[in-house]
Amino acid sequence: MWPSFSDMKRRSFLKKCGAAALLPLSSRGLFARSPFRRQRPSDPGWPSKEAWKRLNDAVGGNLITVDFPIAACTSAGGSADCKKVLESLKNPYYIGDQPGLTQTLGWVDAWATKPSVYAVAARNADDIAAAVNFARENNLRLVVKGGGHSYQGTSNAPDSLLIWTRHMHDVEMHAAFVPHGCEGTHPPQRAATLGAGAIWMQAYDAVTTKAGAYVQGGGCTTVGVAGLIQSGGFGSFSKHYGLAAAGLLEAEIVTADGKVRIANACTNQDLFWALKGGGGGSFGAVSKLTLRVRELPEFAGGAEFRIKAASDGEFQRLIRQFVSFYREALFNDHWGEQVHIAADNTLEVSMVFIGLDTEQSRKVWQPFLDWLARSPASYSIESPPEIGSMPARHWWDVDWRRDRQQHVFNADPRPGSGPNNVWWTGDGGQVGWVVYGFESLWLPASLLQSDSQELLANALFKASRLGEVELHFNKGLAGAPQEAIEAARETATNPAVLSAFALAIVADGQGPAYVGVPNHEPDVVSGQKAANSVRRCMSELRAIAPNGGAYVSESNYFEADWQHSYWGSNHSRLAEIKKKYDPAGLFFVHNGVGSEQWSADGFTKL
Ligand SMILES: Cc1cc2nc3c(=O)[nH]c(=O)nc-3n(C[C@H](O)[C@H](O)[C@H](O)COP(=O)(O)OP(=O)(O)OC[C@H]3O[C@@H](n4cnc5c(N)ncnc54)[C@H](O)[C@@H]3O)c2cc1C
Repeated sequence: MWPSFSDMKRRSFLKKCGAAALLPLSSRGLFARSPFRRQRPSDPGWPSKEAWKRLNDAVGGNLITVDFPIAACTSAGGSADCKKVLESLKNPYYIGDQPGLTQTLGWVDAWATKPSVYAVAARNADDIAAAVNFARENNLRLVVKGGGHSYQGTSNAPDSLLIWTRHMHDVEMHAAFVPHGCEGTHPPQRAATLGAGAIWMQAYDAVTTKAGAYVQGGGCTTVGVAGLIQSGGFGSFSKHYGLAAAGLLEAEIVTADGKVRIANACTNQDLFWALKGGGGGSFGAVSKLTLRVRELPEFAGGAEFRIKAASDGEFQRLIRQFVSFYREALFNDHWGEQVHIAADNTLEVSMVFIGLDTEQSRKVWQPFLDWLARSPASYSIESPPEIGSMPARHWWDVDWRRDRQQHVFNADPRPGSGPNNVWWTGDGGQVGWVVYGFESLWLPASLLQSDSQELLANALFKASRLGEVELHFNKGLAGAPQEAIEAARETATNPAVLSAFALAIVADGQGPAYVGVPNHEPDVVSGQKAANSVRRCMSELRAIAPNGGAYVSESNYFEADWQHSYWGSNHSRLAEIKKKYDPAGLFFVHNGVGSEQWSADGFTKL
């Protein structure tokens, strides 16, 4: 955000006053002080070998030097090692096991993943505290990585010390959990405590497949629990259960002063609130999270099909019909996930539901399918409707799905890999992704009112001429139960989510790519063109939702006025909490709370 003219005038006035006040005290006041800068390996202030050894001892020998597997390709493009790495970059579990890699490999004209110099492969909060203290005392750039999915590149930094939580993935179930200090004021409830390095597949396996219950997490199975909770977080069934962050009951976190703190509704309430959507990597390093465990209905299921319109006019009519149908039949807590509206005049439905059986779900769609059937010349069904339910308990059950020939997961092909090392086939395209452009926008439910539906449908059509518009209905809470909306109101997430019926996403990118890898270079020219299309496409939607706001974890690296876009009216409170727990800015991430005070790489205090 640019400073206003009055801000600028005020600042130059303060500067003059400040300089005048200093002059009589010290001649040093005449010279500009060199800015605070964090140390790099080439700096004389970089810790000595002995100092690193002391850190290694403090963390039980778990300080590791960080390799960069892609170096096998930048140094010897055609080698067998390089081929193996390129193949492995399609496997999110391989990537997750490398402290030197991230699931998103970069963003054209923004960032490319780079390894830290050292990593603490943390086992517990004490290891994390040792790393935090070491980084603070030695002025190092500190970075925290869990699942490594950040689109914004906030879990990697060259010349840094990494806290790597990959091995902290225990899951403990509680029949009656009461947050520390809440005894007597908060009733016991079912909960699960997860290590900060757990990914959602590990959570779903323990809570749903094994225990027959539900925990609200993310859609993508390999996203990290700690990163997603701090983002706000949405899964396929968020329209029913609400924001993932709203399910946080307690966090164990190491703050910049090296203290291991408990944050919950009774202790460190401000920090607790900030962790619920205030953005990962800004307030401390989380070591454990305890999440609310919920009841699971008997059935969940999906509705999938693709329709192509014969002309632009028929496509406009189709979008208009879908908007009205969505408002009538799907705008409730049963239905989540997506439709895609594309330039080739196709509407692709890829939605999920919870709490309906097969018959009920088919009945919901029948009026829309009847409408299509009345105009066979206008609409062809490119992939026929598959609508039906299954026992909700088996949603993430790899064996159950395999036994029924449901090929919905890709599996980690490495010998000896765990049976639950799987990811949805639909998420495969984003493994090792380089982003060209990515924007999101919350669309207010007021656009679904009958007198606004035309406006919405027209904007969606116009946007679809420029890019593929995805509507993620589970990422807007309008239509959710009141309890879910109230719980989300108690988080730091942009309040725009409460009244949005969907999050619109427009994005583009390419499969595993990295600068300097022969035949796998990011295509900069296509990337820039695509980024421009994404921007133009989204501006058609911004025209009807000017104050929508964006989802912090699925948004533009170059987001304008990101403080308000990500957090709306919650930003000022977040900024205060940041100052309280991390006044010196040890925890820095791109476009994170307090990051304005640092250079883009987080090394120099501005
Ligand atoms: C393919 C893909 C699918 C996605 N699907 C969804 C989805 O379905 N729903 C949704 O809501 N979002 C989704 N996202 C966005 C995702 O939730 C965020 O990017 C999230 O922050 C990733 O967390 P992570 O641990 O995997 O990533 P990381 O990159 O490891 O971490 C993300 C941020 O959190 C910080 N962080 C991680 N661990 C800790 C910790 N222990 N303590 C403090 N800070 C920490 C990191 O420093 C970084 O700033 C998706 C992203 C991708 C790439």
